[in-house]
Amino acid sequence: TRFADLPLAAPIQRALADRNYTTPSPVQAQAIPLLLKGRDLLGCAQTGTGKTAAFSLPILQKLHDNPKRTRPKQARVLVLTPTRELATQVGKSLETYGSGLGFRHTLIYGGVGQRPQVQAMRKGIDILVGCPGRLLDLVDQGFVDLSAVEFFVLDEVDRMLDMGFVRDVRKIVSHLPAKRQSLFFSATLAPSIVELAHSILRDPASVTI
Ligand code: AMP
Repeated sequence: TRFADLPLAAPIQRALADRNYTTPSPVQAQAIPLLLKGRDLLGCAQTGTGKTAAFSLPILQKLHDNPKRTRPKQARVLVLTPTRELATQVGKSLETYGSGLGFRHTLIYGGVGQRPQVQAMRKGIDILVGCPGRLLDLVDQGFVDLSAVEFFVLDEVDRMLDMGFVRDVRKIVSHLPAKRQSLFFSATLAPSIVELAHSILRDPASVTI
């Protein structure tokens, strides 16, 4: 397969061509068609395999396919990452692949003041990328409303659990609509991770690299 053969909109194809990406990596080749079909996904993939584009491209495509928004200020996509570095990287990828689509994203993480993050939320955003602790804090304070999330991504879950975020993750999930598409990526699939995955995903397709 080549990216040109996948049903991705012209602005996304252009963004890929601009970066000289012609061929999907194995995780992308497996995951993108399943995600475009609307499946939940349990992905076992390390960093460097192209997993960020594997989830970003189909989610951007689905947002683009269905631009109708009843509540324009609220996030339709939530990506949770264990660290602010990874959140920043995911935000950059979404910006690159989605540059022709006009979606807005905001990063939410701790260790910095919350005011700019809250102000960005108030302006209205499509995509939220953040770390569990600060995100839950802003949800509890009423600054973030997750009730319009259609796509939920948990990235590097093994690291998230190592960092003690499991309770925060479960609380965040309790704020999400039941009807959503959920994606779960981890470099390892220990029993505790599989258990968490199955409490979040519905009839997931599995992709292992
Ligand atoms: P990731 O595993 O998502 O962090 O991606 C690892 C690196 O590979 C990043 O620098 C991406 O920009 C790059 N990359 C992702 N997909 C492709 C692709 N299909 N072709 C070439 N490079 C890619």
